[in-house]
Amino acid sequence: MSETKIILTEKEMPRAWYNIQADLPNLPSPPLNPATRKPISPEDLAPIFPLSLIEQEVSLERWVEIPEEVLKIYRLWRPSPLCRAHRLEKALDTPAKIYYKYEGVSPAGSHKLNTAVPQAYYNKKEGIKRIATETGAGQWGVALSQACNFFGMECTVYMVKVSYQQKPYRRSLMQVYGSEVIASPSTLTSSGRKILKDNPESPGSLGVAISEAVEDAAGRDDTNYSLGSVLNHVLLHQTIIGLEAKKQFAKIDTYPDVVIACCGGGSNFGGIAFPFAHDKIVQGTKVRLLAVEPTACPTLTRGHFGYDYGDVAGLTPLLHMFTLGSEFMPPGIHAGGLRYHGESPLVSRLVHDGFAEAVAYEQTAVFESGVLFARCEGIVPAPESSHAIHAAVKEALDAREAGESRTILFNLSGHGLLDLPSYDTYLEGNLKDQPLHEESLKKSLEQLPKL
Ligand SMILES: *Cc1c(COP(=O)(O)O)cnc(C)c1O
Repeated sequence: MSETKIILTEKEMPRAWYNIQADLPNLPSPPLNPATRKPISPEDLAPIFPLSLIEQEVSLERWVEIPEEVLKIYRLWRPSPLCRAHRLEKALDTPAKIYYKYEGVSPAGSHKLNTAVPQAYYNKKEGIKRIATETGAGQWGVALSQACNFFGMECTVYMVKVSYQQKPYRRSLMQVYGSEVIASPSTLTSSGRKILKDNPESPGSLGVAISEAVEDAAGRDDTNYSLGSVLNHVLLHQTIIGLEAKKQFAKIDTYPDVVIACCGGGSNFGGIAFPFAHDKIVQGTKVRLLAVEPTACPTLTRGHFGYDYGDVAGLTPLLHMFTLGSEFMPPGIHAGGLRYHGESPLVSRLVHDGFAEAVAYEQTAVFESGVLFARCEGIVPAPESSHAIHAAVKEALDAREAGESRTILFNLSGHGLLDLPSYDTYLEGNLKDQPLHEESLKKSLEQLPKL
């Protein structure tokens, strides 16, 4: 029997991130200033981002060196293992080989620390003392809290209210690392007060929380803003996942036929898929790249491809991406990290141009595959990651049907040990699917900015 875990040594860890902007045939259309509607300049971003990250955002260099201070912290959990899911393959009685890259080994329990660490590092280096951010399910808030703590910085997290209530342990974790956590919408910002005035019971959304964090950061000189997904520099940092995976596959002389990841803002998908997209774009390699989203928030599969705000208040630049409309209020599904109305412009471009595919699944089916995975492989997956698992299971069953071998790679973006209340709901039979009705989608898309 072949290996179960393919491990890299610390010395073999990649020393540079991969910037897909160097190789994309069509770059995304540039972000626009929300007031002037002209392409944004670095000065527009300088009040809330450090210069080094603004440079990475627009860089066309193929490789960006990882600073030694960042590598040192990466080594606390990286390189992460590439695992073969032998027992899942057996349970599915499939000729397919299923591999997963496991990012739940990070102290934050998810891939998000891969970008939180460099973001805190570059901010610190440029004299920033405090970072304001938002978090949905709490994984990003936990990761940034840890990263700020490593570099001795303060951190304030606006946490989407429904998650603040459903996921109290992530709030506790952020506080353990010394962060201030605020349920969003809050009365501390004008964007929060506006939402509460219209709807005092608002469950919040990432779009609202982003408005609050940006407003906070823009209002203080010692504070910058930090985003856990969507932006080019975030996906750049996450490419360490796919770069490691390629080295690991090379060690066993294998290459995947399909690379799968769930898609919220697109960072764990971009992280694992972009290094393979490089081979596809530059060498014509026939690897399929599959992004998986919930039917309750089907940005790539049913969204509009065009300019939209990243937040509800319209404070962020207009990004060219797939979007459900910035005022879209997704239902409180159990994969909180996938409840974002927009999508990374780079991932949007890849999907739009046919280099990647997207598919959406209902949450009950997703939990069923998540539980199957836990029982076979022992790891309780994050509900977000279970979307990727479900797609991998479908691929494996499809291979069985077709009687063909197939090498499947998926990104297990995090563990679900802090998501057990959601598992309870599923196991008690109380989990409901939340299809998005055409009418509400249409209503939301009518609010798109007219350019
Ligand atoms: C945040 C999160 C996601 C979704 O965010 P992306 O930016 O799309 O990666 C997926 N999985 C886990 C475990 C997360 O924490």
